[in-house]
Amino acid sequence: MIDAKDVQFAYGGGARLQFPDVYLPQGGVFLLSGPSGSGKSTWLALLAGLVAPSAGSLEVSGQLLGVMGSLKTDAWRAQTIGFLPQKLYLSAALTVQENLALAFWAVGRAQDGARIAAALDGLGVGDLAQRLPAQLSGGQAQRVALARAVLMQPRVLLADEPTASLDDAAAKDAVNVLWASAHRLGASLVLATHDSRVAPLLERALASKGLAPLQRLDLSATQSKGRTP
Ligand code: ADP
Ligand code: MG
Repeated sequence: MIDAKDVQFAYGGGARLQFPDVYLPQGGVFLLSGPSGSGKSTWLALLAGLVAPSAGSLEVSGQLLGVMGSLKTDAWRAQTIGFLPQKLYLSAALTVQENLALAFWAVGRAQDGARIAAALDGLGVGDLAQRLPAQLSGGQAQRVALARAVLMQPRVLLADEPTASLDDAAAKDAVNVLWASAHRLGASLVLATHDSRVAPLLERALASKGLAPLQRLDLSATQSKGRTP
């Protein structure tokens, strides 16, 4: 679940962004839209506890953010948040399997090969485990990064511009695989995009499965008044 009230964030010497209140129940699907620069990536960074709000209150999966120290926040994030960033950050020198094994290292646990294999299989990329990232197509690399994001069975899955530079068929595939992954885990899904193809794809997918309707927030209206002059 996500409960955001009067949240603001100020970049040093730069934009001051204010965000509308949001309540998303556990397992809900949320679409954050708005033009480039409207604060979508910043809002995802706030939800992930990567940056702290400068005002307001933000609760994610029962945890109030901005009050834990950085070590506790890192541990909380590793257990709670799955992040599919716009830039995938797969280590070029490591195989797909090793890239996922790194996630265990990050939480201080022994790597679980069976769980890695299951996560890759669940996304249809199990046979690519021994490849290097450079040997993957864009769509395959994104599935690998998504497998890494869901590896620790997060409560909240965040995806930043997951359809950027994908053609229509691949964009549909990316949206479907994202909501299905979140649904399988009972995780909330927050998808940030300026791609107008995404909302109808998500709405159709959720309706066809009889799931709760998509919640939406468009930041374009808040963009101008959210800035300092
Ligand atoms: P979006 O993801 O919607 O394109 P961002 O959240 O990346 O928007 O950016 C929101 C605003 O914050 C923009 O005006 C951007 O220029 C500014 N911004 C983003 N990152 C930084 C940063 N590290 N330092 C200063 N300003 C930033
Ligand atoms: Mg962005």
